[in-house]
Amino acid sequence: QLHIRDLQKTYGDNKVLRGLNVDIQAGEKIAIIGPSGSGKSTLLRILMTLEAPNGGRVMVDGESVWTMNANGQEKKADEAHMRRMRSKLGMVFQHFFLFPHLSVRQNLTLAPKLVNNVSGTVADDTALELLQMVGMEAKADAFPAQLSGGQKQRVAIARALAMQPEIMLFDEVTSALDPELVHEVLSVLRTLAKKSDMTMLLVTHEMNFAREIADRVLFFDGGVILEEGPPSQIFTQPKEPRTQEFLKTVL
Ligand code: ATP
Ligand code: MG
Repeated sequence: QLHIRDLQKTYGDNKVLRGLNVDIQAGEKIAIIGPSGSGKSTLLRILMTLEAPNGGRVMVDGESVWTMNANGQEKKADEAHMRRMRSKLGMVFQHFFLFPHLSVRQNLTLAPKLVNNVSGTVADDTALELLQMVGMEAKADAFPAQLSGGQKQRVAIARALAMQPEIMLFDEVTSALDPELVHEVLSVLRTLAKKSDMTMLLVTHEMNFAREIADRVLFFDGGVILEEGPPSQIFTQPKEPRTQEFLKTVL
């Protein structure tokens, strides 16, 4: 479903992604771990088309995200193509980014109505269902400023789901939370991972959580995937010295 080939990203002379390759099957739950600055967030931002790569290829459902094939020749993708590819993905960030002037319910219904032309009633029904799933239905009419960090993040997850993406990207969604609020967000993610057939990529520092829900763990180091494997292998018998070193510092 998701194929990444020789992906490159540079900021000035800082080579952040140095030829990254990975294939992800539909429905897989992938945990991404690795040291700070190794390119984890950069990869997710490129997948979400928030940023363009300098080289390489991202394919979703067999189609290239950044280029189109015109008369047998590659050309840069146009805005309509990008929008269509982007609609297959959803992303949740460390810092929520809820719309502060909209109620919880409106945060969930805005994009479906505006972008997907979903009717108001259908969008409202879906919003309530999703809010129930994340345990936030009682706060449907509250505003983001009235919510705790954990509640905001659960709303942010529901908002991303409201667009019905095939692939969900989570970038350290518990890192900005007070420790006692982390578990309520992890429990929502756990339910999602167990119950939904969505593909999920989670950048996380919660190693126990990664071990529990991931089908596969990718260890990022220096802009490449240095090692990958099932959690049972990566966490107990990592092959690479760099992986061993990293796990020593976080386990
Ligand atoms: P962390 O665990 O700290 O979140 P990360 O693996 O997510 O780290 P990235 O955020 O992908 O790392 O950043 C990788 C490198 O790219 C870092 O050296 C960072 O300083 C640099 N970088 C990221 N975004 C930009 C930007 N917009 N402009 C310039 N440099 C950037
Ligand atoms: Mg990051």
